[in-house]
Amino acid sequence: MNLVLMGLPGAGKGTQAEKIVQKYGIPHISTGDMFRAAIKDETELGLQAKSFMDKGELVPDEVTIGIVRERLSKGDCKKGFLLDGFPRTVAQAEALEDILTHLDKKINYVINIDVDNGILMERLTGRRICKDCGATYHLVFNPPAKDGVCDRCSGELYQRADDNEATVKNRLDVNIKQTKPLLDFYETKGYLRNIDGQQEIDKVFADVDQLLEGLQ
Ligand SMILES: [Zn+2]
Repeated sequence: MNLVLMGLPGAGKGTQAEKIVQKYGIPHISTGDMFRAAIKDETELGLQAKSFMDKGELVPDEVTIGIVRERLSKGDCKKGFLLDGFPRTVAQAEALEDILTHLDKKINYVINIDVDNGILMERLTGRRICKDCGATYHLVFNPPAKDGVCDRCSGELYQRADDNEATVKNRLDVNIKQTKPLLDFYETKGYLRNIDGQQEIDKVFADVDQLLEGLQ
């Protein structure tokens, strides 16, 4: 079960990743975790990555790809893996194909949690925070009883600058632009499976699950 998980911010990718890993017992391989582990283990590539990060520079592709190769070669990936946050570009996707060919593996599915942009905007801009006690709300998922007022302490609710419409829209646009060629690449390869991410969380997972049960 060799999987790549994709989805825009707010699509619920993290939640689905957790459920997949729990049910199928494959390692969840996120880029961040992979870097942290390589740095902690002081592997040569980990140290190289760290030197770039310490300078505030982007880690070059060859280092990132090397770290992915090391990670996917580990014993716990024998049964499969769930890659999350890698690849980000077509060049990385091609490198991944190469790595997997050498390991005598191939991707079974690239699962894309698909959610309409308008709904992503609603999800990503809905957060409100209490000025006084820091309690967080969401206009859609966890609204306060009274508009703009904290249930706990009656403090005033505000929206963080990161959550405002212009910032979120820009973040989404950048992601969409970056993701599009990757989705096209995997579509052409025949790996891509779009899952409707606008349903209830459990229903989304039921669809993912149905797809994965075919692999067992
Ligand atoms: Zn409060």
